[in-house]
Amino acid sequence: MRTRNNIRELAIMTGEPFFKEKLYVGRPNIGDRKRFMERMEDILDRRWFTNNGPYVQEFEAKLASFVGVKHCIAMCNATIALEIAVRGLGLAGEVIVPSFTFIATAHSLQWQGITPVFCDIDPSTHNLDPVQIEKLITPKTTGIVGVHVWGRPCEIEALSRIADRHGLKLLFDAAHAFAGSHQGKMIGGFGDAEVFSFHATKFFNTFEGGAVTTDNDELARQIRLMKNFGFAGYDQVDFIGTNGKMTEVSAAMGLSSFERLDEFIDVNHRNFEHYKRELRDVPGIKLIDYSGPEKFNYQYIVIEIDEQITRIDRDRLVEILQAENVIARRYFYPGCHQMEPYHSHFPECGVALPHTERLVKRVMSLPTGTAVSLEDITAICGIIKLVLSNADQLAINAVSRA
Ligand SMILES: *Cc1c(COP(=O)(O)O)cnc(C)c1O
Repeated sequence: MRTRNNIRELAIMTGEPFFKEKLYVGRPNIGDRKRFMERMEDILDRRWFTNNGPYVQEFEAKLASFVGVKHCIAMCNATIALEIAVRGLGLAGEVIVPSFTFIATAHSLQWQGITPVFCDIDPSTHNLDPVQIEKLITPKTTGIVGVHVWGRPCEIEALSRIADRHGLKLLFDAAHAFAGSHQGKMIGGFGDAEVFSFHATKFFNTFEGGAVTTDNDELARQIRLMKNFGFAGYDQVDFIGTNGKMTEVSAAMGLSSFERLDEFIDVNHRNFEHYKRELRDVPGIKLIDYSGPEKFNYQYIVIEIDEQITRIDRDRLVEILQAENVIARRYFYPGCHQMEPYHSHFPECGVALPHTERLVKRVMSLPTGTAVSLEDITAICGIIKLVLSNADQLAINAVSRA
């Protein structure tokens, strides 16, 4: 098998990129093409393209039953789903949220005029630290938005206790966590509501899409109305709504993806185990693990680089890998609190986020999914090992750049 043996062959030095085609984090998985095309024909024959069509209804019913909740409301994307859930829950004032998340989690609050109050994470899980949450609660706090980062559940019981004690709403951004479980129960059934993303880059996609899941009948009723302009009847509008509807084409993709869900997870799991084997004995590299009896979707291969040990920093390693067409990503860099518009609003808040600030400099995601083979992974890990064993020579540019 082809490998990199010498640092002079690296694309960052004199060589050609090792991979002809770019390898991405989150290249779309595709379900059964034939079934998808058949559904497309149905959609055209029916001339029912959106507005709660039959495929959307089927998709919602299948997901609600899979997740084990009473209500699943499918939407055009998770960002709108978050905004509508936030509004349906009546959040206002301040809401506690991690900074270590995709920017949409914070935007969905700020977009409603709510102040996101950034909370630090537990560095061992990358999820909200319950101890830090309590310190941020003020009379203006109305809720907590937890994010199941990398699909690994938050400390759900601790968060629920805090929410109960202080009369706060608890919403989960479960964009990473579809098909995962916590204490034997599927993610989607916790807190007041949870929100999934089915964006093309997520392992289970509907092109663009998202959903709110909840067991709360009244909340579900309101969210359903809000995602359809607030229409309660032909000429009756009950709420200030917006347009968050999922199209039939997206639902058709979702149904076709759903039929292949086990296969996608198996491939992700196989890739994860292979990365784990290949990187097991590499000093200074820690692979975020998915273990124990719970269900995971294994869609993110996340490593932490301990520069003290590797003697080469994360940014230089990303640069070297990208030159080889391994499009590793610095998720989530630099953290929401360091991005505009939040940075100038809360210039001091980094002081309270030491674990987040440390992690965003160490973390990277590597390519996986059905477009990445075991041979690809062996080669990627081979490049990483070659780089680390020649770190002193290769790190030089990073130092001179600084
Ligand atoms: C992808 C993602 C979102 C946004 O999802 P869209 O469907 O693209 O709007 C929100 N939160 C997190 C944590 C995500 O990863």
